[in-house]
Amino acid sequence: MLFFALGACQPTGEANDKTAETAGEKESVKPAYAIVIHGGAGTITRSMMTAEMEAEYRATLNAALDIGEGVLAQGGSALDAVEQTIRSLEDSPLFNAGKGAVFTHEGKNELDAAIMMGSNLAAGSIGGVTTVRNPISLARAVMEKSPHVMMAGPGAEEFAKEQGLEIVSPDYFFTQKRFDALQKAIQEEKEKQPMGYTGENRDYKFGTVGCVALDKAGHIVAGTSTGGMTNKRYNRIGDAPIIGAGTYANDATCGISCTGHGEFFIRYTVAHDVSALMEYQGLSLQEAADKVVMDKLVKAGGEGGLVALDRQGNIAMPFNSEGMYRGYARPGERVVEIYKDEKN
Ligand code: ASP
Repeated sequence: MLFFALGACQPTGEANDKTAETAGEKESVKPAYAIVIHGGAGTITRSMMTAEMEAEYRATLNAALDIGEGVLAQGGSALDAVEQTIRSLEDSPLFNAGKGAVFTHEGKNELDAAIMMGSNLAAGSIGGVTTVRNPISLARAVMEKSPHVMMAGPGAEEFAKEQGLEIVSPDYFFTQKRFDALQKAIQEEKEKQPMGYTGENRDYKFGTVGCVALDKAGHIVAGTSTGGMTNKRYNRIGDAPIIGAGTYANDATCGISCTGHGEFFIRYTVAHDVSALMEYQGLSLQEAADKVVMDKLVKAGGEGGLVALDRQGNIAMPFNSEGMYRGYARPGERVVEIYKDEKN
């Protein structure tokens, strides 16, 4: 059964774990599994969207959730769920990850991604690759098949080849929309308009994708994949592949995937900060996530948001921008949202 929850993102208790069911704890029963995704935060408003575009975004987010939920419902691992869900979003030209990634100043697409397991704090990440079709799978390979956590540029690409991952021509990542956005960003820069998420061209700077999943075994995995920010230079790498900044998972607390102005997320170690507030101050997931995104980041001027879930299957999706493509699934429950006024 599908329905759209309006209240806070607490598990509703359908088809959930037996102990709790027998205890009759309707409100706070731990769901058998949970998955939450985002497709980027930014200035996403109804006025910039056509009905067709909106339907396409919602359908693609729903299809991504179907993939991850399918894995989890069958008892698959959170690791597989996160990888497969993110691959589907990377393959979609709608989002700033894989196909559809934003362009660097020089007109290239340089991709960053990370994945982390909450059970043992294993992690893998890559920065600045230009020929790997699915960066999230390369991040997984770094985690599973190498002694390292982070690889970048040509070395990461050589490793991808060695691991038999799909290599594509850099042209594969081209989309006209993102190329036009680069031209506008360069023009704005010439006119000395502000950079970053401000300025006229801000509508085209969002679209990173991320996913966090809790599997039936109680393990949490988080992943994030992005093209970074339009008009980036000098092999700039953002927060997404930095463990503790854009991506973090710990079975003892929560899993987090971030999206927004990466430089702020790096300096405020956003993902780990949410986990640390839960670990050291005993805050709930929602309290911790709100504290970081709606208070600390707002005061700092860092625009963006995150999706997160804890080991009880609670979900938080705070953002301080106009909108964030987002959604989640738990047994019998499905939510997909875009705008601020749909906020749970
Ligand atoms: N956080 C990403 C970066 O700075 C961009 C985004 O999420 O839109 O690379």
